[in-house]
Amino acid sequence: QTPVVAIVGRPNVGKSTLFNRLTGTRAALVSDLPGLTRDRRDGVADLYGNEIRLVDTAGLEEAQRGSIADRMRKQSEQAIATADLILFVIDARAGVTGSDKEFARIARQSGKPVVLVANKAEGHKGTDGVLDAFSLGLGAPIAISAEHGEGIGDLADDVLGAL
Ligand code: GDP
Ligand code: MG
Repeated sequence: QTPVVAIVGRPNVGKSTLFNRLTGTRAALVSDLPGLTRDRRDGVADLYGNEIRLVDTAGLEEAQRGSIADRMRKQSEQAIATADLILFVIDARAGVTGSDKEFARIARQSGKPVVLVANKAEGHKGTDGVLDAFSLGLGAPIAISAEHGEGIGDLADDVLGAL
């Protein structure tokens, strides 16, 4: 059974950029699972020869009905429920926000393994935010740049180690 990894976090931290980075040319849009919100993308990533299924959760732009925050929380909860592991993403440059803490609480409560990712840390930017991320109680953050492809090997190591 191919493990399912859900990418979770508040809007604009770089979840979709990371999804695209990890799925690369193997990215495949597949139909939504029945009963789940449509605002999710599924793809396949290859981590050193290990195939995983990646789930990208929506940004603000997809939220239409109900309160945006409620919809996003619900969608994250659904993605988490079907996942074997959670990739929890924050923006290292922005540091830890209240919204990050809220999503982190949901991730923690799931009891599933979480890999904490501090994105937008290219060229050692956002060091304060990376250190700040320890406060989320999700273990040691991995500093990456989804956009520039930095730290992706470390991320893959942690994901494979935690699965
Ligand atoms: P999402 O809402 O969490 O899916 O975030 P997106 O993937 O849509 O990215 C939000 C914004 O952050 C976009 O403008 C991206 O170009 C930018 N971004 C994503 N990853 C990085 C990164 O590693 N470094 C920098 N500097 N910007 C990034
Ligand atoms: Mg997105």
